[in-house]
Amino acid sequence: MIAMPITPAVLILLGPPGAGKGTQARMLEETFGLVQLSTGDLLRSAVAAGTEAGNKAKSVMEAGGLVSDDIVLAILKDRMTDPDTKRGVILDGFPRTAGQAEALDGLLASTGQRVNSVISMKVEDASMVARVAGRYTCASCGEGYHDEFKQPASAGVCDKCGGAEFKRRADDNAETAGARLAAYHAQTAPLITYYKGRGVLEQVDAMADIASVAGAMSASVKRVVA
Ligand code: AMP
Repeated sequence: MIAMPITPAVLILLGPPGAGKGTQARMLEETFGLVQLSTGDLLRSAVAAGTEAGNKAKSVMEAGGLVSDDIVLAILKDRMTDPDTKRGVILDGFPRTAGQAEALDGLLASTGQRVNSVISMKVEDASMVARVAGRYTCASCGEGYHDEFKQPASAGVCDKCGGAEFKRRADDNAETAGARLAAYHAQTAPLITYYKGRGVLEQVDAMADIASVAGAMSASVKRVVA
């Protein structure tokens, strides 16, 4: 029996916390009909639901560390079999370690697939704390906002769904930011070289404004998604 592909197009957004991966993934999702898979979101849902994996991940996430590969892979694998991932996925926040990157390759190879494109979003470390400390999302639809860079057109009302409740992540604070950035440099940044070696890496200057970054990212994605 021939194994069915898990998903036809696999894009990865690579970058430190606050690079804008989530914001850009949501825009690409709309433009290209892909599905954003954020392991951070999946883990936060597991924590909120009080699952065994969520309970194990909670304290690690609060401290700004990386959750174990086993837990993250199990959660992601499960999500990648959902039918809405049929046209393709944008991985946001995954892989974050060499072990995760290799496991992803193995998972895709088992169905004759591979990573199609990796976009490395470059931002200066110095801007990271301000970027994460100012962000918040609509509690109803998840649209992202920022105190400084992206406020709703009408104060207190979500542009997307009209919701009036917003939330901030527990780990988006100056204390945890340092640990998250350190984890990025130690464990995730080496993946830039890993994917460069495979000829799938593109770099985008993510210090530019949201619209300019979106333009550069779209141009890059167009080259791999029909
Ligand atoms: P994010 O929403 O991507 O910023 O992730 C929030 C937190 O979830 C991170 O600081 C980690 O503790 C955890 N996390 C998310 N994705 C991963 C991953 N791929 N590997 C390990 N931990 C992760």
